[in-house]
Amino acid sequence: MSKKIDIIWTCQNCGDRYGLTLFRSIWGEIPENRSIVMNDKINTTTCPNCGISSKLPYPFLYTHKNPDFAVWWEPIYDKSIDEEKKQFGNLPGVPDYLINAPRVKDWEEFKRTILRLENEPQKEPDPKKLKEMDKYFKDIIQNKLDRHQKNKSGCLGNFFFLIFIFSALIIVFKFSL
Ligand SMILES: [Zn+2]
Repeated sequence: MSKKIDIIWTCQNCGDRYGLTLFRSIWGEIPENRSIVMNDKINTTTCPNCGISSKLPYPFLYTHKNPDFAVWWEPIYDKSIDEEKKQFGNLPGVPDYLINAPRVKDWEEFKRTILRLENEPQKEPDPKKLKEMDKYFKDIIQNKLDRHQKNKSGCLGNFFFLIFIFSALIIVFKFSL
C-alpha cells in the first residue's frame, strides 16, 4: 500500500500552521496515483489562509508493478532511505528493483525516469532471489509443522498416560473385588 505520514505544515508565505498528509511511497500502477505524480500534484499544498501553493521537498518512493520498478525522488539527501535500503537488503526475497531503486534529485528527471522505466521490457525475476524466498517460506512452514508435531506428540503422550491410569484403575478395581 502507499505509505503516508501526517505533518503540521507552516505556510512559507503567511506562517499559518495546518495539518496535511504526505506520501512516503506511492503505487504508480494505480492511474490516480500516477496522475498526481505526473501532474505535479503529489505532496503539494494550498494554504487555507493565504491561498499560496507550495510543493514540499519530501522524498518519496514511486513503485510500479508490471513492469516492476521503483524510483526515489530525493530533492534533499535523506539518510533514512539508506536505512530502508539496508533493511530491504536484509529481508529475503525483496526484489532487486526495490533495493537498487535509483534516487533522483531533480523533479523533471524523476518523471522522465518513470516514463523510461514504464516502457522497459519486464525483466525476468532473479532465480537466486526466487530460491531465497522459496526457502524462507518453506522454513517458516517447516517450523510451524515441527511445532505442530511436537504438540501432537504431547497430546499423544497424554493420551497414553490416561490409558495407563485407566488400566491401572481397572486392575485395582478387579483385585479389590
Ligand atoms: Zn499562507
